[in-house]
Amino acid sequence: MATEQIAPAINAWDVAQRQFDLAAERLNLSPGLRRVLREPKRELTVHFPVKMDDGSVQVFTGYRVQHNLGRGPAKGGIRYHQDVTLDEVKALAMWMTWKCAVVGIPFGGGKGGVIVNPKKLSQREIEGLTRRFTTEISILIGPERDIPAPDVNTNAQTMAWMMDTYSMHVGYTVPAVVTGKPIPLGGSEGRNEATAQGAVYTIVDAAQHLGMDLRKCRVAVQGFGNAGAIAAQLMAAEGSTVIAVSDSTGAIYRRQGLAVNSVLAWKQEHHSVVGLPGSKEISNEELLELDCDILIPAALENQITAANAGKIQARLIAEAANGPTTPEADEILYKNARFVIPDILCNAGGVTVSYFEWVQDLERDFWTVAQVNEKLRAVMTKAFASTLDMSLSEQVNMRTAAYLLAVQRVADATSVRGLYP
Ligand code: NAD
Repeated sequence: MATEQIAPAINAWDVAQRQFDLAAERLNLSPGLRRVLREPKRELTVHFPVKMDDGSVQVFTGYRVQHNLGRGPAKGGIRYHQDVTLDEVKALAMWMTWKCAVVGIPFGGGKGGVIVNPKKLSQREIEGLTRRFTTEISILIGPERDIPAPDVNTNAQTMAWMMDTYSMHVGYTVPAVVTGKPIPLGGSEGRNEATAQGAVYTIVDAAQHLGMDLRKCRVAVQGFGNAGAIAAQLMAAEGSTVIAVSDSTGAIYRRQGLAVNSVLAWKQEHHSVVGLPGSKEISNEELLELDCDILIPAALENQITAANAGKIQARLIAEAANGPTTPEADEILYKNARFVIPDILCNAGGVTVSYFEWVQDLERDFWTVAQVNEKLRAVMTKAFASTLDMSLSEQVNMRTAAYLLAVQRVADATSVRGLYP
């Protein structure tokens, strides 16, 4: 009987450390600095009880990790997903450190997560879980210390509960403790769209560099949530044809293009993109390998690996998701002349507008959506140009270029602060 070959699972933390090592080697960082930047500063694990609707008590496990605080307070989202692990949260926290540095905003990297499938919980149970998790991590968070935001399966409502819980503890309202809040609570105009909007600004710049006309481009989007669905809408607004989208239930394809607003309405009603009239169901693997011009991974980590990188046909890959590509896949894509806008640059619009939200909350002075987007565009365009310059001058791919910029900035901040005590 033939034995089935099972590929070893890819560990996101291992990927993050290898990406860092590549940059540290090229930058010739001192061994001491490498040791410091290679590990998170703090990792908190909490096990906490939640009363369920049936009267039972369940215990959930959650994490909050702060990777590096050299350039400012920790910043990073909270993820609710059944596959969350401490290693995944550590990787995401490290990527946040580099992301904030690439776009030059004064934050360090953090991330949090709870092992839970929120689709199996009622709203009341999710609220209870959120409030108790916030309480458990309140020893770390605060507007000057660590500022959470939404990530996979969390949203503005989750942030409202976190802000309210934290404020109840301290006895007064602290809007700046989280970002991605609803606008009436001190959320920023443009924050909900910011990750996708920032990604599209980088796509516009990349297309210009590559001589691609966006009005003639066919786009495939993996993941149809906050980042992916809005990216699909914005690409359609740029005149591109969105030919495929997917979510955790499956993928759909239409050669002549999907009406993105119809997909949104369908998903709203059926909780899945699959089944949209006029579309053909395809597999998630097929979506990634489609004959298209732009691929936007906007779901989870480790989607483009050594196993499928050689089959990716898109000329431009814009990583709205965090960690969608492994280091082996990066090499294959670079060899095949695929242009990757790396996650720490591509999806940095989210944390950039989170920074704007934090500034507005602290100043009690709020900006219009036009002001937010103008500032966001300036940040993204500058970061894209610096990364492209580095990539061309050092003859490295865009990910390594972004890492060289980011790791150098964090290393400079860390070493100029000196070693305490
Ligand atoms: P979300 O929960 O709003 O959406 C995630 C989407 O991915 C959902 O449509 C889900 O069904 C889909 N999905 C999950 N597994 C899938 C699979 N195997 N195949 C296809 N689709 C799948 O989350 P989000 O906030 O849009 O986050 C998506 C990615 O973007 C994550 O990597 C996240 O870390 C990253 N990101 C988000 C933000 C933000 O501001 N929300 C900022 C930066 C980066």
